[in-house]
Amino acid sequence: MKVDYIIVGLGLAGIAFTEQLIANNKSFVVFNDNSQKSSLVAGGVYNPVILKRFTPVWNATQQLAVAMPFYENLEQKFNTTFDRKFLTKKVFKSIEDQNNWFSAIDKYNIARYLDDKLDYNKYQGVIANYALGNVNETGRVDTLNLVNSYEEFILKNNLLKQETFNYESLEIKDNLLKYNTVEAYKIVFSEGFGLKKNPYFNQLPLTGVKGETITIYAPELAIDFQLKSTVFVLPLGNHYFKVGATFNWTDKTSTPTEEGKKELEEKLTKVINVNYTISEHTAGVRPTTKDRRPLVGKHSKYKNLYVLNGLGTRGVMIAPTVAKALFEFIEFNKELDKEININRFVD
Ligand SMILES: Cc1cc2nc3c(=O)[nH]c(=O)nc-3n(C[C@H](O)[C@H](O)[C@H](O)COP(=O)(O)OP(=O)(O)OC[C@H]3O[C@@H](n4cnc5c(N)ncnc54)[C@H](O)[C@@H]3O)c2cc1C
Repeated sequence: MKVDYIIVGLGLAGIAFTEQLIANNKSFVVFNDNSQKSSLVAGGVYNPVILKRFTPVWNATQQLAVAMPFYENLEQKFNTTFDRKFLTKKVFKSIEDQNNWFSAIDKYNIARYLDDKLDYNKYQGVIANYALGNVNETGRVDTLNLVNSYEEFILKNNLLKQETFNYESLEIKDNLLKYNTVEAYKIVFSEGFGLKKNPYFNQLPLTGVKGETITIYAPELAIDFQLKSTVFVLPLGNHYFKVGATFNWTDKTSTPTEEGKKELEEKLTKVINVNYTISEHTAGVRPTTKDRRPLVGKHSKYKNLYVLNGLGTRGVMIAPTVAKALFEFIEFNKELDKEININRFVD
């Protein structure tokens, strides 16, 4: 088998790059295993504003302009819905918090996203001592459904090998790569936190932050928006809600823990005051980086090895943009933005 590209990893990064290949008539084969879970357990939320500090997310407007049609296109391809648009309502902690909201609207010119009319309504089950602030243009991509649908699609087309890519078996020749029976001109590594095992790129400063979420069934909670407080509460439909997420900088496994669950439940007592049962508990490692920017680019020695990683806490918004940038860099020699190019770490 001879292809243009091998892709290693089929999370949000791998899917976004595969879509570039399909759109440009390139042949490929994908290797994917189950070692990382980030795209499978993600909240899937996109939100152009960081609600801890009321600051705009880096390049949010540009990223959303690429991401929204990207998911819409996938919805058409699979004849299903992945993207559910809803309002996010921020629960203010104090009057000062409310005032900061208005300062941010003026300071960053983000009236498009942060509504200047506060919401004083009471919602059954929601604890709010102050008003709520509406964030526009937010929503959730069902990343689990998306990854599963995509995997099924490329498996059906014989383009997927459901196995661990063994780095030692890769033979690098000048213009051609050989991996067992596959020959390829180029390889793109998009293994999420699995990059740590990749001898070609594991010197990159990928830190990794573990996150856990729980899914709850709360029949008395009737909100159809994302509630953002010390945790997020995301409506999944039929009174199911995803609650998250924890941030753990030391544990790098994808195993859900009792401590993680306890932390979420404790925080949840300050956010909602209705009964619930837990139906699911998941964990994964976010591929975060030291400088909070993606890791995109070419190996310093081998010109046909590339990396697409470092999507951090915002893979849904970032993946389509950086996949496009990498493809255009490889195929059309278009320069990569300095902020995402891995050559920023070369002395
Ligand atoms: C709890 C939690 C909540 C989150 N919430 C959000 C959110 O609300 N919004 C948002 O935008 N982002 C969120 N994120 C972050 C988001 O999940 C990531 O940014 C994104 O999914 C990373 O995608 P990826 O493709 O780079 O990596 P991954 O999803 O980790 O995919 C990598 C794939 O490569 C495979 N792989 C690795 N090594 C090999 C190998 N050697 N051979 C074969 N396959 C291999 C892995 O098994 C995996 O399938 C969250 C993450 C977590 C953990």
